Amino acid sequence: MEFSSKLLENAVYEMSQLPGIGKRTALRLVLHLLRQPESQTAHLVSALGTLRKEIKFCKNCHSISDDQICDICSNNSRFKDIICVVEDIRDVMAIESTGQYRGLYHVLGGKISPLDGIGPQDLTISSLITKAKSGEVKELIFALSATMEGDTTNFYIYKQLEEITIKTSTIARGISVNDELEYADEVTLGRSILNRIPFENALKNP
Ligand SMILES: [Zn+2]
Repeated sequence: MEFSSKLLENAVYEMSQLPGIGKRTALRLVLHLLRQPESQTAHLVSALGTLRKEIKFCKNCHSISDDQICDICSNNSRFKDIICVVEDIRDVMAIESTGQYRGLYHVLGGKISPLDGIGPQDLTISSLITKAKSGEVKELIFALSATMEGDTTNFYIYKQLEEITIKTSTIARGISVNDELEYADEVTLGRSILNRIPFENALKNP
């Protein structure tokens, strides 16, 4: 792509660093912004800048939060003894939109993936185990995507919990095989949380 303007080229380059945005799309977005009032670009830049500066991670569930403790963890009407284990905030948003779940979450920040160099120490697994061993948690619901990495992560956590008495379950299979949780429709996802199965059963029928 040949640019006659260095300023334009820089803006397109930065935009194209985003996932799923190729050079052509980046150019279209940048030209769109140029056609809009200058204030729109200022609002965009300001929103992103403020987000990066002020965003926090909830001390309890590790989800993205505006405060030290997120709205879900600080909500007294939620069941504090059921924890749904998810990969990232997109899963929290997907499950929240079903309106079927009243427990808390634990955001791992990814999945164990040796090929990508992601091990248990790179995720928030140790804080989950500590929470589970505190005796205040009755049930852990695994809601990671049904990929090899998701299965490996579930199993790793499950093994860490062997010596303690805690119920472990997993959301119904088939809703997210090789698919991301966020794409399951709300009704199906809601039903699969209500009809979750004991984790041991999922192990017998992989
Ligand atoms: Zn939280």
